[in-house]
Amino acid sequence: MKIFNTLSRTKEEFVPLEPGKVKMYVCGPTVYNFIHIGNARPMIVFDTVRRYFEYKGYEVNYVSNFTDVDDKIIKKAVEEGVEPEVISCRYIEECKKDMAGMNVKPATVHPQATQEIDGMLEMIQTLIDKGHAYAAADGTVYFRTGSFKEYGKLSHKNLDELQSGFREIKVTGEEGKEEPSDFVLWKPKKEGEPYWDSPWCQGRPGWHIECSVMAKKYLGDQIDIHAGGEDLVFPHHENEIAQSEAANDKPFATYWMHNAFLNIDSNGHVQKMSKSLGNFFTVREISERYDLQVLRFFMLGAHYRSPLNFSADLMEASKNGLDRILTAAERLEEAQKIISDSKGKDQAPADKEQEYLAAAKELVLKYEAAMDDDFNTADAIAAIFELVKLGNSTVSENSTEAYVNEIKAILERLCGVLGIKTKRDKGVLDEEIEAMIMQRQQARKEKNFARADEIRKTLSDMGILLEDTREGVKWKRV
Ligand code: AMP
Ligand code: ZN
Repeated sequence: MKIFNTLSRTKEEFVPLEPGKVKMYVCGPTVYNFIHIGNARPMIVFDTVRRYFEYKGYEVNYVSNFTDVDDKIIKKAVEEGVEPEVISCRYIEECKKDMAGMNVKPATVHPQATQEIDGMLEMIQTLIDKGHAYAAADGTVYFRTGSFKEYGKLSHKNLDELQSGFREIKVTGEEGKEEPSDFVLWKPKKEGEPYWDSPWCQGRPGWHIECSVMAKKYLGDQIDIHAGGEDLVFPHHENEIAQSEAANDKPFATYWMHNAFLNIDSNGHVQKMSKSLGNFFTVREISERYDLQVLRFFMLGAHYRSPLNFSADLMEASKNGLDRILTAAERLEEAQKIISDSKGKDQAPADKEQEYLAAAKELVLKYEAAMDDDFNTADAIAAIFELVKLGNSTVSENSTEAYVNEIKAILERLCGVLGIKTKRDKGVLDEEIEAMIMQRQQARKEKNFARADEIRKTLSDMGILLEDTREGVKWKRV
Protein backbone atom coordinates (compact mmCIF):
# COMPACT_ATOMS: atom_id res chain seq x y z
CA MET A 1 0.00 0.00 0.00
CA LYS A 2 1.48 3.32 -1.03
CA ILE A 3 0.91 6.71 0.54
CA PHE A 4 2.13 10.05 -0.73
CA ASN A 5 4.08 11.52 2.15
CA THR A 6 4.36 15.32 2.22
CA LEU A 7 7.62 14.90 4.19
CA SER A 8 9.44 13.16 1.33
CA ARG A 9 7.15 14.35 -1.46
CA THR A 10 7.05 10.81 -2.76
CA LYS A 11 4.77 7.81 -2.56
CA GLU A 12 6.07 5.47 0.11
CA GLU A 13 5.14 1.93 1.08
CA PHE A 14 3.00 1.97 4.22
CA VAL A 15 4.74 0.33 7.17
CA PRO A 16 2.85 0.66 10.47
CA LEU A 17 4.67 1.34 13.72
CA GLU A 18 2.90 -1.65 15.22
CA PRO A 19 1.84 -4.54 12.95
CA GLY A 20 -1.91 -4.53 12.23
CA LYS A 21 -2.52 -1.12 13.80
CA VAL A 22 -2.85 2.40 12.47
CA LYS A 23 -2.65 5.49 14.64
CA MET A 24 -4.08 8.45 12.82
CA TYR A 25 -4.64 12.09 13.78
CA VAL A 26 -6.70 14.43 11.61
CA CYS A 27 -6.89 18.16 12.38
CA GLY A 28 -10.52 19.02 12.91
CA PRO A 29 -12.49 22.23 12.47
CA THR A 30 -12.62 25.37 14.54
CA VAL A 31 -16.18 25.40 15.77
CA TYR A 32 -17.75 28.83 15.41
CA ASN A 33 -20.22 28.18 12.62
CA PHE A 34 -21.66 25.43 10.45
CA ILE A 35 -18.92 23.62 8.54
CA HIS A 36 -18.66 24.34 4.82
CA ILE A 37 -18.11 21.77 2.13
CA GLY A 38 -14.40 22.69 1.94
CA ASN A 39 -14.06 21.54 5.55
CA ALA A 40 -16.01 18.43 4.57
CA ARG A 41 -13.33 17.37 2.08
CA PRO A 42 -10.72 16.23 4.67
CA MET A 43 -13.49 14.64 6.73
CA ILE A 44 -14.70 12.52 3.82
CA VAL A 45 -11.25 11.79 2.41
CA PHE A 46 -9.64 10.66 5.66
CA ASP A 47 -12.73 8.75 6.76
CA THR A 48 -12.32 6.82 3.51
CA VAL A 49 -8.63 6.25 4.27
CA ARG A 50 -9.65 4.90 7.66
CA ARG A 51 -12.32 2.64 6.15
CA TYR A 52 -9.84 1.24 3.65
CA PHE A 53 -7.34 0.41 6.39
CA GLU A 54 -10.14 -1.34 8.27
CA TYR A 55 -11.10 -3.25 5.12
CA LYS A 56 -7.49 -4.39 4.94
CA GLY A 57 -7.77 -5.74 8.47
CA TYR A 58 -6.03 -2.96 10.38
CA GLU A 59 -7.30 -1.74 13.71
CA VAL A 60 -7.48 2.04 13.34
CA ASN A 61 -7.25 4.44 16.23
CA TYR A 62 -8.60 7.63 14.66
CA VAL A 63 -8.37 10.87 16.58
CA SER A 64 -9.80 14.15 15.32
CA ASN A 65 -10.04 17.26 17.45
CA PHE A 66 -12.39 20.18 17.73
CA THR A 67 -10.62 23.51 18.19
CA ASP A 68 -12.93 25.11 20.73
CA VAL A 69 -10.86 28.09 21.90
CA ASP A 70 -10.09 30.64 19.22
CA ASP A 71 -10.48 34.33 18.36
CA LYS A 72 -13.36 33.61 15.97
CA ILE A 73 -15.30 31.69 18.62
CA ILE A 74 -14.78 34.50 21.12
CA LYS A 75 -15.89 37.10 18.57
CA LYS A 76 -19.07 35.19 17.81
CA ALA A 77 -19.77 34.77 21.55
CA VAL A 78 -19.43 38.51 22.06
CA GLU A 79 -21.80 39.17 19.14
CA GLU A 80 -24.42 36.85 20.61
CA GLY A 81 -23.79 37.90 24.22
CA VAL A 82 -23.12 34.33 25.36
CA GLU A 83 -20.16 32.39 26.76
CA PRO A 84 -17.73 31.02 24.11
CA GLU A 85 -18.59 27.54 25.35
CA VAL A 86 -22.18 27.99 24.18
CA ILE A 87 -20.93 28.68 20.66
CA SER A 88 -18.43 25.81 20.54
CA CYS A 89 -20.86 23.25 22.04
CA ARG A 90 -23.57 24.28 19.58
CA TYR A 91 -21.36 23.93 16.52
CA ILE A 92 -19.75 20.70 17.68
CA GLU A 93 -23.23 19.21 17.84
CA GLU A 94 -24.12 20.62 14.41
CA CYS A 95 -20.84 19.36 12.97
CA LYS A 96 -21.54 15.86 14.30
CA LYS A 97 -24.95 15.92 12.59
CA ASP A 98 -23.31 16.89 9.29
CA MET A 99 -20.71 14.17 9.71
CA ALA A 100 -23.44 11.59 10.30
CA GLY A 101 -25.23 12.82 7.17
CA MET A 102 -22.05 12.38 5.13
CA ASN A 103 -21.58 8.92 6.67
CA VAL A 104 -18.30 9.99 8.27
CA LYS A 105 -17.70 7.63 11.17
CA PRO A 106 -17.26 9.22 14.57
CA ALA A 107 -13.58 9.28 15.52
CA THR A 108 -12.33 6.87 18.17
CA VAL A 109 -11.88 10.06 20.21
CA HIS A 110 -12.92 13.64 19.44
CA PRO A 111 -10.85 15.63 21.95
CA GLN A 112 -11.55 19.27 22.63
CA ALA A 113 -8.73 21.71 23.22
CA THR A 114 -10.31 23.30 26.31
CA GLN A 115 -10.39 19.90 28.04
CA GLU A 116 -6.68 19.30 27.51
CA ILE A 117 -5.07 22.40 29.03
CA ASP A 118 -3.11 20.45 31.67
CA GLY A 119 -1.32 18.46 28.99
CA MET A 120 -0.49 21.69 27.18
CA LEU A 121 0.98 23.29 30.30
CA GLU A 122 3.07 20.18 30.78
CA MET A 123 4.42 20.08 27.22
CA ILE A 124 5.19 23.81 27.24
CA GLN A 125 7.10 23.39 30.52
CA THR A 126 9.08 20.50 29.03
CA LEU A 127 9.96 22.64 26.01
CA ILE A 128 11.11 25.48 28.29
CA ASP A 129 13.16 23.08 30.42
CA LYS A 130 14.87 21.70 27.33
CA GLY A 131 15.69 25.15 25.97
CA HIS A 132 13.21 24.92 23.09
CA ALA A 133 10.90 27.62 24.42
CA TYR A 134 11.06 30.82 26.45
CA ALA A 135 8.67 33.17 28.22
CA ALA A 136 8.77 36.84 27.20
CA ALA A 137 8.30 39.68 29.69
CA ASP A 138 4.54 39.89 29.07
CA GLY A 139 4.07 36.17 29.84
CA THR A 140 3.81 35.01 26.22
CA VAL A 141 5.66 31.74 25.69
CA TYR A 142 7.34 31.24 22.30
CA PHE A 143 8.86 28.22 20.64
CA ARG A 144 12.51 28.86 19.76
CA THR A 145 12.51 27.71 16.13
CA GLY A 146 16.30 28.01 15.86
CA SER A 147 16.65 25.30 18.51
CA PHE A 148 14.99 22.69 16.35
CA LYS A 149 17.46 21.78 13.65
CA GLU A 150 14.91 20.21 11.34
CA TYR A 151 12.52 23.14 11.31
CA GLY A 152 11.13 23.44 7.78
CA LYS A 153 11.44 19.74 6.87
CA LEU A 154 7.73 19.27 6.16
CA SER A 155 7.07 22.43 4.19
CA HIS A 156 10.52 22.22 2.58
CA LYS A 157 11.34 25.70 3.75
CA ASN A 158 14.72 26.90 4.85
CA LEU A 159 14.81 28.53 8.28
CA ASP A 160 17.24 31.28 7.26
CA GLU A 161 15.07 32.28 4.32
CA LEU A 162 12.04 32.17 6.56
CA GLN A 163 13.72 34.44 9.09
CA SER A 164 14.62 37.06 6.53
CA GLY A 165 11.13 36.86 5.04
CA PHE A 166 9.57 37.33 8.45
CA ARG A 167 11.91 40.20 9.30
CA GLU A 168 10.26 42.25 6.57
CA ILE A 169 6.98 42.08 8.44
CA LYS A 170 7.08 43.62 11.89
CA VAL A 171 4.12 42.54 13.96
CA THR A 172 3.13 44.71 16.88
CA GLY A 173 2.77 42.89 20.18
CA GLU A 174 5.49 40.43 19.25
CA GLU A 175 8.46 42.47 20.46
CA GLY A 176 9.29 39.75 22.98
CA LYS A 177 10.26 37.28 20.26
CA GLU A 178 13.91 36.34 19.86
CA GLU A 179 13.46 35.51 16.18
CA PRO A 180 10.63 36.44 13.85
CA SER A 181 9.82 32.80 13.00
CA ASP A 182 9.33 31.85 16.65
CA PHE A 183 5.72 31.04 17.33
CA VAL A 184 3.31 31.26 20.24
CA LEU A 185 2.75 28.37 22.64
CA TRP A 186 0.89 30.34 25.30
CA LYS A 187 -0.50 33.87 25.20
CA PRO A 188 -1.78 36.29 27.86
CA LYS A 189 -5.52 36.77 28.17
CA LYS A 190 -7.22 39.87 26.88
CA GLU A 191 -10.12 41.52 28.67
CA GLY A 192 -13.24 39.34 28.58
CA GLU A 193 -11.52 36.31 27.04
CA PRO A 194 -11.51 32.81 28.50
CA TYR A 195 -8.25 32.05 30.32
CA TRP A 196 -6.44 29.48 32.41
CA ASP A 197 -3.80 29.92 35.11
CA SER A 198 -0.25 29.03 34.13
CA PRO A 199 3.26 29.61 35.53
CA TRP A 200 3.77 32.34 32.89
CA CYS A 201 0.53 34.31 32.90
CA GLN A 202 -3.21 33.86 32.92
CA GLY A 203 -3.94 33.09 29.32
CA ARG A 204 -4.69 30.49 26.70
CA PRO A 205 -2.78 28.11 24.43
CA GLY A 206 -1.65 28.76 20.88
CA TRP A 207 -3.36 26.68 18.21
CA HIS A 208 -0.40 24.45 17.27
CA ILE A 209 0.34 23.12 20.75
CA GLU A 210 -3.23 21.84 21.05
CA CYS A 211 -2.78 19.22 18.33
CA SER A 212 0.68 18.09 19.53
CA VAL A 213 -0.76 17.49 23.00
CA MET A 214 -3.97 15.78 21.91
CA ALA A 215 -2.09 13.47 19.53
CA LYS A 216 0.35 12.56 22.34
CA LYS A 217 -2.37 11.91 24.88
CA TYR A 218 -4.65 9.76 22.72
CA LEU A 219 -2.16 8.11 20.36
CA GLY A 220 1.28 8.37 21.94
CA ASP A 221 4.55 10.11 21.08
CA GLN A 222 4.75 8.45 17.69
CA ILE A 223 1.90 8.06 15.26
CA ASP A 224 1.53 6.56 11.80
CA ILE A 225 -0.43 9.23 9.95
CA HIS A 226 -1.11 12.89 10.55
CA ALA A 227 -3.51 14.52 8.14
CA GLY A 228 -5.37 17.67 7.20
CA GLY A 229 -5.94 20.14 4.39
CA GLU A 230 -2.90 21.42 2.47
CA ASP A 231 -3.19 24.88 4.02
CA LEU A 232 -2.11 23.27 7.29
CA VAL A 233 1.36 22.20 6.04
CA PHE A 234 2.80 25.55 7.03
CA PRO A 235 2.86 26.76 9.69
CA HIS A 236 0.49 24.48 11.60
CA HIS A 237 1.97 21.06 10.88
CA GLU A 238 5.54 22.33 10.65
CA ASN A 239 5.09 23.76 14.15
CA GLU A 240 3.44 20.61 15.45
CA ILE A 241 6.48 18.61 14.32
CA ALA A 242 8.86 21.06 16.01
CA GLN A 243 6.93 20.95 19.30
CA SER A 244 6.33 17.21 19.44
CA GLU A 245 9.78 16.10 18.30
CA ALA A 246 11.57 18.62 20.53
CA ALA A 247 9.48 17.58 23.55
CA ASN A 248 9.34 13.81 22.98
CA ASP A 249 12.70 13.19 21.26
CA LYS A 250 11.01 10.88 18.77
CA PRO A 251 9.87 11.27 15.17
CA PHE A 252 6.25 12.44 15.41
CA ALA A 253 4.30 11.07 12.43
CA THR A 254 5.67 8.65 9.84
CA TYR A 255 3.33 9.85 7.07
CA TRP A 256 1.90 13.31 6.52
CA MET A 257 -1.13 13.39 4.26
CA HIS A 258 -2.72 16.54 2.87
CA ASN A 259 -5.83 16.96 0.77
CA ALA A 260 -5.96 19.62 -1.92
CA PHE A 261 -8.55 22.39 -1.82
CA LEU A 262 -12.13 22.36 -2.80
CA ASN A 263 -12.39 25.40 -5.05
CA ILE A 264 -15.27 27.38 -6.39
CA ASP A 265 -15.65 29.67 -9.35
CA SER A 266 -16.70 33.06 -8.08
CA ASN A 267 -17.01 35.83 -10.66
CA GLY A 268 -14.66 34.16 -13.10
CA HIS A 269 -11.97 33.43 -10.47
CA VAL A 270 -11.43 29.92 -9.26
CA GLN A 271 -10.68 30.26 -5.58
CA LYS A 272 -10.37 28.13 -2.49
CA MET A 273 -13.70 27.84 -0.73
CA SER A 274 -13.31 29.58 2.61
CA LYS A 275 -15.21 31.33 5.31
CA SER A 276 -13.14 34.48 5.01
CA LEU A 277 -13.74 34.82 1.25
CA GLY A 278 -17.45 34.31 1.81
CA ASN A 279 -17.66 31.98 -1.21
CA PHE A 280 -18.82 28.89 0.62
CA PHE A 281 -21.77 26.54 0.87
CA THR A 282 -22.36 24.91 4.19
CA VAL A 283 -22.91 21.16 4.33
CA ARG A 284 -26.31 22.00 5.76
CA GLU A 285 -27.24 24.07 2.72
CA ILE A 286 -26.21 21.27 0.38
CA SER A 287 -28.26 18.80 2.43
CA GLU A 288 -31.38 20.80 1.61
CA ARG A 289 -30.87 20.06 -2.08
CA TYR A 290 -29.13 16.71 -2.13
CA ASP A 291 -28.76 13.59 -0.10
CA LEU A 292 -25.30 14.07 1.46
CA GLN A 293 -24.28 10.76 -0.06
CA VAL A 294 -24.14 12.69 -3.33
CA LEU A 295 -21.70 15.17 -1.79
CA ARG A 296 -19.56 12.29 -0.56
CA PHE A 297 -19.64 10.63 -3.98
CA PHE A 298 -18.71 13.95 -5.61
CA MET A 299 -15.70 14.40 -3.31
CA LEU A 300 -14.41 10.88 -3.92
CA GLY A 301 -14.73 11.28 -7.68
CA ALA A 302 -11.40 13.15 -7.63
CA HIS A 303 -8.08 12.09 -6.19
CA TYR A 304 -7.65 13.71 -2.78
CA ARG A 305 -4.44 15.49 -3.84
CA SER A 306 -6.06 17.07 -6.89
CA PRO A 307 -7.84 20.39 -6.59
CA LEU A 308 -11.58 19.91 -7.02
CA ASN A 309 -13.93 22.52 -8.39
CA PHE A 310 -17.39 22.62 -6.96
CA SER A 311 -20.22 23.31 -9.37
CA ALA A 312 -23.92 22.56 -9.75
CA ASP A 313 -23.19 20.60 -12.94
CA LEU A 314 -20.67 18.34 -11.25
CA MET A 315 -23.07 17.73 -8.37
CA GLU A 316 -25.76 16.73 -10.88
CA ALA A 317 -23.32 14.39 -12.61
CA SER A 318 -22.44 12.86 -9.23
CA LYS A 319 -26.12 12.45 -8.43
CA ASN A 320 -26.65 10.58 -11.68
CA GLY A 321 -23.56 8.44 -11.18
CA LEU A 322 -24.60 7.47 -7.68
CA ASP A 323 -28.09 6.79 -8.95
CA ARG A 324 -26.75 4.24 -11.42
CA ILE A 325 -25.10 2.35 -8.57
CA LEU A 326 -28.16 2.49 -6.33
CA THR A 327 -30.44 1.36 -9.13
CA ALA A 328 -28.14 -1.58 -9.84
CA ALA A 329 -28.21 -2.51 -6.13
CA GLU A 330 -32.01 -2.34 -6.16
CA ARG A 331 -32.20 -4.58 -9.21
CA LEU A 332 -29.96 -7.10 -7.50
CA GLU A 333 -32.23 -7.08 -4.48
CA GLU A 334 -35.28 -7.56 -6.68
CA ALA A 335 -33.58 -10.47 -8.40
CA GLN A 336 -32.76 -12.00 -5.02
CA LYS A 337 -36.43 -11.90 -4.06
CA ILE A 338 -37.63 -13.42 -7.30
CA ILE A 339 -35.01 -16.15 -7.31
CA SER A 340 -35.42 -17.12 -3.68
CA ASP A 341 -39.01 -18.14 -4.53
CA SER A 342 -37.97 -20.08 -7.60
CA LYS A 343 -35.76 -22.82 -8.93
CA GLY A 344 -32.57 -20.76 -8.81
CA LYS A 345 -32.47 -21.20 -5.08
CA ASP A 346 -29.76 -23.45 -3.64
CA GLN A 347 -28.16 -24.04 -7.02
CA ALA A 348 -24.45 -23.55 -7.40
CA PRO A 349 -23.46 -20.86 -9.93
CA ALA A 350 -23.61 -22.10 -13.50
CA ASP A 351 -20.43 -22.28 -15.63
CA LYS A 352 -21.10 -18.95 -17.27
CA GLU A 353 -21.65 -17.43 -13.87
CA GLN A 354 -18.33 -18.79 -12.65
CA GLU A 355 -16.75 -16.82 -15.47
CA TYR A 356 -18.63 -13.66 -14.49
CA LEU A 357 -17.59 -14.15 -10.87
CA ALA A 358 -13.99 -14.41 -11.95
CA ALA A 359 -14.46 -11.12 -13.83
CA ALA A 360 -16.02 -9.57 -10.71
CA LYS A 361 -13.05 -10.70 -8.64
CA GLU A 362 -10.72 -9.09 -11.17
CA LEU A 363 -12.62 -5.86 -10.61
CA VAL A 364 -12.13 -6.20 -6.86
CA LEU A 365 -8.40 -6.49 -7.52
CA LYS A 366 -8.56 -3.44 -9.77
CA TYR A 367 -10.37 -1.52 -7.05
CA GLU A 368 -7.81 -2.56 -4.44
CA ALA A 369 -4.91 -1.69 -6.74
CA ALA A 370 -6.39 1.80 -7.14
CA MET A 371 -6.87 2.25 -3.41
CA ASP A 372 -3.42 0.80 -2.67
CA ASP A 373 -1.99 3.47 -4.94
CA ASP A 374 -2.34 6.42 -2.55
CA PHE A 375 -6.11 6.03 -2.24
CA ASN A 376 -7.07 6.65 -5.84
CA THR A 377 -10.80 6.77 -5.18
CA ALA A 378 -11.53 8.01 -8.72
CA ASP A 379 -10.18 4.78 -10.22
CA ALA A 380 -11.81 2.75 -7.46
CA ILE A 381 -15.17 4.25 -8.46
CA ALA A 382 -14.44 3.38 -12.10
CA ALA A 383 -14.04 -0.27 -11.01
CA ILE A 384 -17.39 -0.06 -9.20
CA PHE A 385 -19.04 1.20 -12.38
CA GLU A 386 -17.61 -1.77 -14.27
CA LEU A 387 -19.06 -4.06 -11.63
CA VAL A 388 -22.44 -2.33 -11.99
CA LYS A 389 -22.27 -2.96 -15.73
CA LEU A 390 -21.40 -6.60 -15.18
CA GLY A 391 -24.27 -7.01 -12.71
CA ASN A 392 -26.76 -5.27 -14.97
CA SER A 393 -25.86 -7.35 -17.96
CA THR A 394 -25.60 -10.77 -16.31
CA VAL A 395 -28.24 -10.94 -13.58
CA SER A 396 -31.75 -12.02 -14.50
CA GLU A 397 -34.52 -14.15 -13.02
CA ASN A 398 -32.67 -17.16 -14.44
CA SER A 399 -29.54 -16.47 -12.38
CA THR A 400 -28.69 -18.64 -9.42
CA GLU A 401 -29.17 -17.19 -5.96
CA ALA A 402 -25.51 -17.81 -5.09
CA TYR A 403 -24.38 -15.71 -8.05
CA VAL A 404 -26.66 -12.77 -7.31
CA ASN A 405 -25.76 -12.86 -3.63
CA GLU A 406 -22.07 -12.75 -4.43
CA ILE A 407 -22.32 -9.86 -6.90
CA LYS A 408 -24.48 -7.90 -4.48
CA ALA A 409 -22.13 -8.57 -1.57
CA ILE A 410 -19.13 -7.38 -3.61
CA LEU A 411 -20.95 -4.21 -4.68
CA GLU A 412 -21.98 -3.45 -1.10
CA ARG A 413 -18.49 -4.09 0.21
CA LEU A 414 -16.69 -1.90 -2.32
CA CYS A 415 -19.18 0.94 -1.87
CA GLY A 416 -19.07 0.52 1.90
CA VAL A 417 -15.32 1.14 1.98
CA LEU A 418 -15.97 4.49 0.31
CA GLY A 419 -18.72 5.17 2.84
CA ILE A 420 -21.37 4.92 0.13
CA LYS A 421 -24.55 3.20 1.24
CA THR A 422 -26.13 1.02 -1.43
CA LYS A 423 -29.62 1.47 -0.03
CA ARG A 424 -31.46 4.66 -0.83
CA ASP A 425 -32.26 6.66 2.24
CA LYS A 426 -35.96 7.12 1.66
CA GLY A 427 -36.57 8.97 4.91
CA VAL A 428 -39.87 8.59 6.67
CA LEU A 429 -42.78 10.63 5.49
CA ASP A 430 -44.99 12.47 7.94
CA GLU A 431 -48.01 10.47 6.71
CA GLU A 432 -46.28 7.19 7.51
CA ILE A 433 -45.50 8.39 11.01
CA GLU A 434 -49.09 9.56 11.60
CA ALA A 435 -50.38 6.22 10.34
CA MET A 436 -48.18 4.36 12.81
CA ILE A 437 -49.32 6.61 15.63
CA MET A 438 -52.96 5.83 14.72
CA GLN A 439 -52.15 2.12 14.85
CA ARG A 440 -50.61 2.62 18.27
CA GLN A 441 -53.71 4.45 19.50
CA GLN A 442 -55.86 1.63 18.19
CA ALA A 443 -53.68 -0.97 19.96
CA ARG A 444 -54.00 0.96 23.22
CA LYS A 445 -57.76 1.14 22.84
CA GLU A 446 -57.77 -2.61 22.47
CA LYS A 447 -55.56 -2.84 25.54
CA ASN A 448 -52.85 -4.45 23.43
CA PHE A 449 -50.10 -2.60 25.25
CA ALA A 450 -47.34 -4.88 24.01
CA ARG A 451 -48.19 -3.92 20.41
CA ALA A 452 -48.46 -0.23 21.37
CA ASP A 453 -45.01 -0.34 22.97
CA GLU A 454 -43.61 -2.13 19.97
CA ILE A 455 -44.82 0.66 17.68
CA ARG A 456 -43.38 3.31 19.98
CA LYS A 457 -40.05 1.45 19.92
CA THR A 458 -40.07 1.19 16.11
CA LEU A 459 -40.72 4.91 15.86
CA SER A 460 -38.01 5.69 18.36
CA ASP A 461 -35.53 3.61 16.34
CA MET A 462 -36.48 5.75 13.35
CA GLY A 463 -35.62 8.85 15.39
CA ILE A 464 -39.24 9.79 16.11
CA LEU A 465 -40.07 10.75 19.65
CA LEU A 466 -43.67 10.51 20.88
CA GLU A 467 -45.15 12.60 23.61
CA ASP A 468 -48.56 11.82 25.10
CA THR A 469 -50.22 15.11 25.97
CA ARG A 470 -53.72 16.13 26.99
CA GLU A 471 -54.31 17.35 23.45
CA GLY A 472 -53.32 13.98 22.05
CA VAL A 473 -50.08 12.44 20.82
CA LYS A 474 -47.40 14.81 19.64
CA TRP A 475 -44.27 13.72 17.81
CA LYS A 476 -40.96 15.14 16.77
CA ARG A 477 -37.85 14.06 14.89
CA VAL A 478 -34.75 13.86 17.10
P1 AMP B 1 -10.52 25.15 9.68
O1 AMP B 1 -11.82 25.06 10.42
O2 AMP B 1 -10.41 26.32 8.75
O3 AMP B 1 -9.34 25.01 10.60
O4 AMP B 1 -10.44 23.89 8.68
C1 AMP B 1 -10.66 22.55 9.06
C2 AMP B 1 -10.09 21.64 8.01
O5 AMP B 1 -10.70 21.91 6.71
C3 AMP B 1 -8.59 21.79 7.77
O6 AMP B 1 -8.03 20.50 7.56
C4 AMP B 1 -8.50 22.63 6.51
O7 AMP B 1 -7.31 22.42 5.82
C5 AMP B 1 -9.69 22.10 5.72
N1 AMP B 1 -10.19 23.02 4.68
C6 AMP B 1 -10.65 24.29 4.87
N2 AMP B 1 -11.05 24.83 3.69
C7 AMP B 1 -10.85 23.88 2.73
C8 AMP B 1 -11.08 23.82 1.31
N3 AMP B 1 -11.63 24.83 0.63
N4 AMP B 1 -10.76 22.67 0.67
C9 AMP B 1 -10.23 21.63 1.32
N5 AMP B 1 -9.99 21.61 2.66
C10 AMP B 1 -10.29 22.72 3.36
ZN1 ZN C 1 -3.89 20.40 14.07
